[in-house]
Amino acid sequence: MPLCKTNAVILGGRRFGDTSKIISAYTAGFGKLHLLAKGALAPKSKFLSALETFSESELVFYHKTTTELHLLSQAALLKSHLRLADKSEIFPFAAAACEITDEWIKGEEQNLGYYQLLTSFLNRLETTTPLQVPFLFWLFVYYGASILGFRPNLEACFRCGKKENKKSYLFHPEKGGLVCAQDARESERYLKVSADLKNLAATLAHSDFDSASHLEVPLKLLNELSEFLKDFLLVQGVWKQLPASLALGQRT
Ligand SMILES: [Zn+2]
Repeated sequence: MPLCKTNAVILGGRRFGDTSKIISAYTAGFGKLHLLAKGALAPKSKFLSALETFSESELVFYHKTTTELHLLSQAALLKSHLRLADKSEIFPFAAAACEITDEWIKGEEQNLGYYQLLTSFLNRLETTTPLQVPFLFWLFVYYGASILGFRPNLEACFRCGKKENKKSYLFHPEKGGLVCAQDARESERYLKVSADLKNLAATLAHSDFDSASHLEVPLKLLNELSEFLKDFLLVQGVWKQLPASLALGQRT
């Protein structure tokens, strides 16, 4: 049972027994982990705020090979994102990102790109304006899905490879690509994609989250982006259902 050390974002946790907690964390070194934090809820717990949801912490734990529940030994807070929990315009989106990470990522597999995306997203939420928050969230979804192998191709027809220049396009959510007028079939369901969304996707494909987070996108295009990503990722089976935290955000 080797002792391991890694940085992590705390995705959530639940009480276990009287004073312990089982936490879910996305780590830089091991992907997603479940950890038992003994005595985490006891008075004078040594873990304190290092295990709060959204916190970035350095974890030291016993990596068990026989079970998927590992034993936490130490946790040191690197960056508290507690402020995010206090802001009603930000909280649902931060919570949805943690929920997505918990749902989309199944096993323990290191993915530094995903870890960097998650930490960049939480850091940007600290400094951004409330208006920009929904866009940052959908950027997180776009780049997160892309890193996991689900990047929609809005450049060319997936059947013939032709690149067209039009006002709107047809997208095949199952194939994950555009289809040209010649190759479109009556029996297939397509999503309509505007030229603006196609241009935005081209920009995103050649940027990363940090540089794209400074783009200013009109509300109409943001709505199109979010509806497009929801449909695409539900059809692809990445999403079984939309994050509950997000519905919370839309009601307010
Ligand atoms: Zn074609």
